Amino acid sequence: AEHHDVIIVGGGAGGIAVAASMLARKSGLDIAIVEPADVHYYQPGWTLVGGGVFQAGDTRKQMSSLIPHGVRWIKAAVAGFDPQNKAVILEGCRPVTYEKLVVAPGLKLNWAGVEGLEETLGKNGVTSNYRYDLAPYTWELVKNFRRGTALFTQPPMPIKCAGAPQKAMYLSCDHWLRQGVLNDVRVEFLNAGPVLFGVADYVPPLMEYVKRYGIDLSFGHNLIRVDGPAKRAWFKVSGKDGESTIVERAFDMMHVTPLQSPPDVVKASPLANEAGWLDLDPATLRHVKFPDIYGLGDASGTTNAKTAAAARKMAPVVAENLLRDLGVLDEPRAAVYDGYGSCPLTVERGKVILAEFGYGGRRIPSFPKWFIDDLKPSKAAWLLKERVLPAIYWKAMLKGREPMAKPGREVLEAAE
Ligand code: FAD
Repeated sequence: AEHHDVIIVGGGAGGIAVAASMLARKSGLDIAIVEPADVHYYQPGWTLVGGGVFQAGDTRKQMSSLIPHGVRWIKAAVAGFDPQNKAVILEGCRPVTYEKLVVAPGLKLNWAGVEGLEETLGKNGVTSNYRYDLAPYTWELVKNFRRGTALFTQPPMPIKCAGAPQKAMYLSCDHWLRQGVLNDVRVEFLNAGPVLFGVADYVPPLMEYVKRYGIDLSFGHNLIRVDGPAKRAWFKVSGKDGESTIVERAFDMMHVTPLQSPPDVVKASPLANEAGWLDLDPATLRHVKFPDIYGLGDASGTTNAKTAAAARKMAPVVAENLLRDLGVLDEPRAAVYDGYGSCPLTVERGKVILAEFGYGGRRIPSFPKWFIDDLKPSKAAWLLKERVLPAIYWKAMLKGREPMAKPGREVLEAAE
């Protein structure tokens, strides 16, 4: 069987960043990335595609242009994990063996989990910024909307970029406000969860916008069925006593955030925790049962926000700990991840509330308050989102340059 010192599963934000991070520390390593897709997407850009700021094409690059030089690209999907034999099984039952494995296949968007959704996506006013080909349709709908009911949905957590469902809503409302049509639009946010945002400190500034735009908030509402041609949607509402009821809404446009789950290949493997996500040590990102395996990104069972910003901080932690295990990096202490994740909430065109937080919802602002106050909408944070973060992603994070992602350190006895 083919063998590599390091195999990385997934060439997304986390996978490419880890490969680049390792090579930045030690050139000439024997690394393979297993990735079936030809195209790599900058998904955080899709919010701005749906808001009419970016073109869809700005958010994609050829995978071949991003796989670092010297890394072997195995263009296939992993179909199974065999950690006892230190092998991953590719489609067609081909095993590839490793010394060390990094697992970063992202998460699964379960479009089929809502009855009638797949067949109406991209038409009948039903859209989603969670897909490259649909984000432009969001902007087309918003641009042409004059009156009627607009629904925005959010499924149960965890989801990637938990702020994205409301970002789409605020940018839409802002456009309608500027066009002078917001008074004729009824906007409703139907959230399966119990709160507007998971970190409580950010809720009051967000509520200012909910009020400004006249948005109706409905919590505990989980989208279960859509009838596109009839322009109707059904939600399961769970009551406090465990009883649930079904409510119906008519809509003229609807932005859907799909149900999200661990990738099937992870869920069905010995690598999964009870919920199906990668069972990782939250600090070192090493697998709790298999010390040769690390993981990062959206597939992780850690409690950080599933964001590219998290993957940016996780990548050097994984890279250093792995090189340390291989005996390549002489460093007595393991690198540790603090749970950092970030969610730039686009509350209006030109202003962002820059939520940055770690494990336990502890706020970790990157900037001094005079520059960006994380609890206030700011122009500087918008420019960061529109101009700076895409450049950091393509030119720093995916290239192993880490000016803002130096890992912390800790002496670990248990892991030795
Ligand atoms: P991905 O980048 O999704 O990559 C996973 C890769 O694994 C893919 O290339 C896939 O083809 C590959 N793969 C899948 N299955 C297999 C398999 N079986 N074998 C091999 N390879 C496989 N993050 C932010 O930081 N800020 C934001 O503002 C933000 N906004 C967002 C808005 C939207 C609408 C969306 C959708 C996401 C947003 N995110 C944001 C989240 C961010 O995009 C993800 O958290 C990030 O891409 C996760 O990186 P990842 O490497 O885990 O997964």
